[in-house]
Amino acid sequence: TTPNVSDIVKHRTLIIGSTGFIGRFVAEASLHSGQPTYLLVRPGSVVGSSKSTTTIGYLQERGAIVITGSIDDQDSMEKVLKEHKIEVVVSVVGGARILDQLILLEAIKAVGTVKRFLPSEFGHDIDRADPVEPGLTMYNEKRKVRRATEAAGIPYTYICCNSIAGWPYHDNIHPADVLPPLDRFHIYGDGTVKAYFVTGSDIGKFTMKTIGDVRTVNKSVHFRPQCNLLNINQLASLWEKSIGRTLPRLTVTEDDLLSAAKEMIIPQSIVASFTHDIFIKGCQVNYDIENPNDIEVCSLYPDTPFQTVEECFKDFATRVVVVNVPKVAEKSKSNDFIVVPNAKPEAL
Ligand code: NDP
Repeated sequence: TTPNVSDIVKHRTLIIGSTGFIGRFVAEASLHSGQPTYLLVRPGSVVGSSKSTTTIGYLQERGAIVITGSIDDQDSMEKVLKEHKIEVVVSVVGGARILDQLILLEAIKAVGTVKRFLPSEFGHDIDRADPVEPGLTMYNEKRKVRRATEAAGIPYTYICCNSIAGWPYHDNIHPADVLPPLDRFHIYGDGTVKAYFVTGSDIGKFTMKTIGDVRTVNKSVHFRPQCNLLNINQLASLWEKSIGRTLPRLTVTEDDLLSAAKEMIIPQSIVASFTHDIFIKGCQVNYDIENPNDIEVCSLYPDTPFQTVEECFKDFATRVVVVNVPKVAEKSKSNDFIVVPNAKPEAL
């Protein structure tokens, strides 16, 4: 197989958004792959929430170099890119800050030395998927960033990693941060539409493999591991197997999801619109990868396995603690009772 160039050559890589949900996986993978890793951190983050401080501290201990700054300040971004001779920029800013990347792009253009730009994508192929509002507005913003990147002539890679492995709650933007359900499943539609689930660490790992790989220049890289192509009924059965008990299944209809999207409660309605696109319309599976600018990640790195959803769920299950609660048990006529000690396990 063709060697992965990023395994050989190291690149001075700037990660923007390393304190975020997806960003921390990318930053960790960058360090793991031995790239000289620079983290752009907003001034507030360093002294901000304890979660951000912990994440930055963890990454610094592993060799990351922290630079304070913000992508909406073009002059300081130009300074950062020049001073640290940045070759690769990976942006993992959140959905509310997508258009700020247009200012970042101006800085990248002005400096002219960045060899690869990965804008904040990390989901569907936004030129193909067509969610209802309010998800559509986010996709229109991501499309603007794509067109501006292409017009600027900056070498790019779009990471279309599909869904992060976890239970796809229709009202939670960060599903891998919470355990799958312990009371009942919400099944979208008839539960037969499939999607691809990729663990956070694999999103980070395979993203970092693409950054120096000549085969991914100006390409959309689609993450389609066949082992993790599952519908929500199958996902529910896997979780039941992991916790050793069965749970009731309630149907959430297409209309329910569309109503949740129409409520315009942000960010929940955005997630509802994506959930509709994935599990009703099949936006991850209703097209073939056949355009010259598309490439599938397993075909690039056939020797590197993906972590399976089953393994991921087993790991989630270790965080479920079963205790004996006599009073409750009396009522439920069972001795065991599941409690969740920490509904938001730290990813790192
Ligand atoms: P988060 O909101 O969790 O994190 C955003 C990060 O960007 C934070 O570290 C934040 O820093 C940083 N940031 C925001 N604005 C700036 C700025 N102006 N300058 C520098 N840093 C900034 O983002 P998510 O992880 O939720 O989203 C990242 C991408 O992943 C998005 O494109 C999103 O659509 C996608 N996504 C994909 C999922 C999937 O299942 N495939 C699931 C969730 C997201 P600070 O700490 O200062 O706030």
